[in-house]
Amino acid sequence: MQVFLRGVAATLVVLVSSAAGAAEPFDKLHCLKYASARDYPVDAILFGTDRGEVADLPFMFCVARRGDETVLLDAGFVNPAYAKEWGVVEYADYRGLLAEIGVKPEDVNLVTLSHLHWDHAGGTSAFPNAKFVIQKRELEYAAGGMSLNKHAQIGFYAADVLDLVKLAWNGRVLLPEGDQEDVIPGLDVYLTPGHTIATMTVCLDTTEGRVCYASDAVYNYRNIEEDIALGLGLDLGASVDSYAKIRALVGDGVMIPGHEAALFETPGRFEFRKLTDRVIAIVE
Ligand SMILES: [Zn+2]
Repeated sequence: MQVFLRGVAATLVVLVSSAAGAAEPFDKLHCLKYASARDYPVDAILFGTDRGEVADLPFMFCVARRGDETVLLDAGFVNPAYAKEWGVVEYADYRGLLAEIGVKPEDVNLVTLSHLHWDHAGGTSAFPNAKFVIQKRELEYAAGGMSLNKHAQIGFYAADVLDLVKLAWNGRVLLPEGDQEDVIPGLDVYLTPGHTIATMTVCLDTTEGRVCYASDAVYNYRNIEEDIALGLGLDLGASVDSYAKIRALVGDGVMIPGHEAALFETPGRFEFRKLTDRVIAIVE
C-alpha cells in the first residue's frame, strides 16, 4: 500500500509542476442533479433536528470548464444496486445529463473526489479519459485503515475503493496531502474533515470570482449558516470546525454544499440560473 502511494505521490509532483503556468479562470460552472431521494430523514442532514421530519434530497455533481479543459467536481455513482439500496430515484443517465450542457463523459479531463462515499466516488468508471484527485488520507483510510465498525463503514463500498486503487496503479490518481493550491492552475483543494476522515473542499478561480464546492463537508446551507453539525459523519465536532475553515476560504465568494434541495428548487435565491430541471448555472 505504502509503496504504490509513494509512487503516485511522485507522479503527482511531476503532473503538478507540468501544469504550472498562466491560468485563465474557469468561465463556465454548472451543477447537475443526477438523482434524488424522497422523504429523506432531515436529522441525517442537520444534527439534532426533529426526528420524523423528512425532505427530498438531491444528488449532484458540478462541471467547471475553460477552453478545452473540463473538470468534474465529484463523480456520482453508476452501480444501479446503490440506487436500490439507498432508495434513490430519478437517476439520470450521465451521457444524457451531461449533454444538457454540451459535455460528453469522454471530454472530462479531471475529476475531484470530495470523499469516498458511494454517491460521490462511485462513478469513476464513467470517465475514461480523466485523472482523479482525492486526499491521500481518504484513500488510505478506505483502502485499509478504516474502522471495521459497521457504522463507520456506512457509505463506503470496497468496489469503489478498488476502482480507485486500480486507477492509481495506472497513474491516473493525484493524491494531495491536506491543503494544496493550484492542483491545476486556479483549482485549490482543502482538507475539511468531519463527514469522512479527509473530506476535501475544492475552490475554483472563475470569471465571477471564487467558488468553493464543499460537497458533504456541508450538506446544506443551514449546516454552515446555523453551525449545525452534519447528521451523518465520522467526527461531527470536526465537521463544525471545518465550517469555520470553509467560511474563511469562501470569503465573499460562493459556496456550494453537497445536498441542498434549494439549489434546484429556487436557484434564483442564490443568483444562480436554472437551465433545466436538473441543471443550474453558477458561472456562465
Ligand atoms: Zn458523503
